[in-house]
This record gives sequence, structure tokens and C-alpha cells, in this order.
Amino acid sequence: MLKGKTAVVTGSTSGIGLSIARAYAAEGANIVINGFGAPEAIEQERAGIEADFGVQARYSPADMAHGGAIATMIAEAEAEFGGVDILVNNAGIQFVSPVEDFPVEKWDAIIAINLSAAFHAIRAALPGMKQRKWGRIINTASAHALVASPFKSAYVAAKHGIAGLTKTVALEAATFGVTANAICPGYVWTPLVEKQIPETMAARGLTKEQVINDVLLHAQPTKQFVTSEEVAALAVFLASDAAKSITGVILPVDGGWTAQ
Ligand code: NAD
Repeated sequence: MLKGKTAVVTGSTSGIGLSIARAYAAEGANIVINGFGAPEAIEQERAGIEADFGVQARYSPADMAHGGAIATMIAEAEAEFGGVDILVNNAGIQFVSPVEDFPVEKWDAIIAINLSAAFHAIRAALPGMKQRKWGRIINTASAHALVASPFKSAYVAAKHGIAGLTKTVALEAATFGVTANAICPGYVWTPLVEKQIPETMAARGLTKEQVINDVLLHAQPTKQFVTSEEVAALAVFLASDAAKSITGVILPVDGGWTAQ
């Protein structure tokens, strides 16, 4: 379905981004993966995508905290593959703390990586998409783009910001065959969620089991974690021609969380 297309997926060395990159490769797209991790593990993932799906996969080490590096990542992908057709702004970090104790450097990093990085990447990739009259921008937002939780001020602010950016870009790109949508997962069991458990235990005075059952799964009526494969399947659909009239949508995949 995506043969001949090129997808850049930020934050794809792990979790949801890795599932999206592999799902696009399975549909025939060439892939640029990005993110941090052990060099051998990243190379294994890159080579695995090529071997499993017969596409080309490149790795960009661009730090999503730096706009210049993001612009370079997009320019290199365009030079190598002739264009970026699908851009998934997925890289993200989390930090959990009461707002009055929230470390300023954590606030700045979350806004940079979870919000400003998407602006920089869209700014760099949209002109080529408009020129070719086809493009898909998919932002991994969160249920926290629609509702808040205590102790996540920076994350909730950044994700609400991504919702606004998505809608604005959708309007600007609408007549160019380019859509922009945000996927809003509920809790998916990834390193990002695992890492916030000790912080949430400290912020709320709870045990690990209480955090999992009374905080995380409490939010989701299904009482189950969402899987990264479910999120990736939606990202594939949004990239398809069948989804060309879906734009500016902030779409929950959250087991009913935001229906409450
Ligand atoms: P993860 O920790 O498994 O993956 C995060 C990815 O981002 C990794 O590849 C990491 O290397 C990369 N990354 C982090 N900082 C970076 C930087 N400065 N530059 C480049 N790459 C960087 O987490 P995940 O759960 O897969 O999260 C992916 C996205 O999904 C995030 O935007 C997150 O907010 C969102 N999300 C996650 C959940 C969840 O429950 N896991 C729910 C809703 C939304």
C-alpha cells in the first residue's frame, strides 16, 4: 500500500514509534528511524526492518531537542529518498512531579521534545509534501491531549499544544493533498510508562501495584493496556488513500478513557 513512499518516524528506537516504523515498512515504505539507544541495538533494528520487509531503512541520530538537527534529518531523508511522504512526530519523554516542584529543565525538555520538535519537523517537511501534492503528518499525541492528570503539567501542556498544532497544519495543508492528524493513545506498556511508575509512587505515596491498577488502568474502562501494534495499525490507516478526507482529527485510542 505504501510502496515507493518514504516515512520518517521520530522516536522509533523503542515502543510505539518502533511499531509504527515496522508497520509502515510492512506496507512497503522506506523508513528513517530515529531515537536514542545502544548503537548495536539500533543497527539491529534498522537491519531487521530491511531484512524483514525488503525496504530501505536509514537511521538518523537527530536529537529532537534541537531544531537544527531536525531540519537536517528531514533534508537528508529528502536527498536520499527524493522526498518525505509520511512524517510521524512520535518522540516523547515524560516527567511526573507536582507543578510547584517541577524541575525547570524538565519542563523545557518536555516542551522541546514533545511539542517544538513536531513544529520543526513539519516546517521542514511540509514544503516538499505540498509540492508533490501528497503527504501525511501524524502526531503521536496522547489521551493527555484531551484531558489532564495531576503531576504531569509539562506533558499535558505539550500534548494539548500538539492538538492545536495538528489542527492548524491540517487547515493550512488541506488543499495540497496533505493531511495532519493526531493519534491519542491511552496507556501503552512501553519504557516511557515503566519509567514514570517510581515517580508516580513518590508523587502519590502509592505502591507499584496501586499505580498500575488504581492510576494507570483506573483511567481506562477496558482495564487493559493499549498495544503499540493497535496504535501502529491506526497510523497505517491514516497514511492510506482511504483516509484522505480525515484531517485535523484528534483521535483517541484509549480504551474509553476520554469518553468519561
Ligand atoms: P518510549 O520511551 O518507548 O519511546 C520514546 C522514543 O523517543 C524512543 O525511541 C526514544 O529514544 C525517543 N526519544 C526520546 N528523547 C528523544 C530525543 N531528544 N531525540 C530523539 N528521540 C528521542 O515511549 P513510547 O511510550 O513509545 O512513547 C512514544 C510516544 O507516544 C511519545 O510521544 C509519548 O508521549 C506517546 N504516548 C505514549 C503513551 C504510553 O502509554 N506509552 C501514551 C500516550 C502517548
